Amino acid sequence: MKILIAEDDPIFKAILENNLKKWGYQVTSTSDGRQAWDIISKPGCPNLVISDWMMPEMDGLQLCRNMRAQAAPRYIYFILLTAKGEQQDILQGLEAGVDDYLTKPIDYMELKYRIHIGERIIRLEEKVLELARKDSLTDTLNRRAFMEKLDEELERAARNKVPLSLLMTDIDHFKQVNDQYGHIAGDRVLKQFVAQMAKIIRPYDFIGRYGGEEFILCLPDCSISHGRDIAERMRSKIETTAMHISQSRPPIHITSSFGVSSFTSTNEQTAESLIKNADDALYSAKNKGRNCVRMAQP
Ligand SMILES: [Mg+2]
Repeated sequence: MKILIAEDDPIFKAILENNLKKWGYQVTSTSDGRQAWDIISKPGCPNLVISDWMMPEMDGLQLCRNMRAQAAPRYIYFILLTAKGEQQDILQGLEAGVDDYLTKPIDYMELKYRIHIGERIIRLEEKVLELARKDSLTDTLNRRAFMEKLDEELERAARNKVPLSLLMTDIDHFKQVNDQYGHIAGDRVLKQFVAQMAKIIRPYDFIGRYGGEEFILCLPDCSISHGRDIAERMRSKIETTAMHISQSRPPIHITSSFGVSSFTSTNEQTAESLIKNADDALYSAKNKGRNCVRMAQP
């Protein structure tokens, strides 16, 4: 984990840095609040800040206030170091938004354990963010998270002039599964459907839940014909896999349809048009009798 130190006393800063490195942290250090703020206000900054109160340019309290006022994508845990120990000063620090404070001279073992508290909070926050991005039933990305990631991948594909394929898939006649066996069985089928596709995708591909039984897959660095091959392998895998719906009933079989569209450096499609084209191709697969893969028309 990365930690940022803001401390103007060079000797104390060096001791602090050595200790943090010894405990296994990656350390960036600055000697005033302004430099620290430059680092905090940029993407990819450390998640934990240990800052002195009294510093030139910008003091620790102002640094913390600025940090809390910005709409940071991640929570930053802030430990204030101070020579002041009066109750009134501590209130000021807490009011500025510090998470924790230590009074100088520092007890290093205490600092170590207080950093551990910060780490636990940061990990919890990561977990919450992760949950907010996932579809709880199938553990795939939810639609919003998928779209964010797709935009990033499209930018990368445009920059590197490489193709990207998009698959839209839907379980054929899924309503019948729910009607005949109930929604719990339907949920089980959805999970197994995703699990089978997950066996086929490459490590950097990702799946999102687009609607009820409709899923969307992004395959970076993948041409439309390669995308079609992957979709075909998935379709065939689904068709031949026994889906377990309950202890007391025999497994059932389902089929699925796929639509494939592709971004290339010449067509430069947007996320919206890629999805529309894959959706149209999926619609055409449904019209062609289902259990098949169709590519978007160029
Ligand atoms: Mg100082």
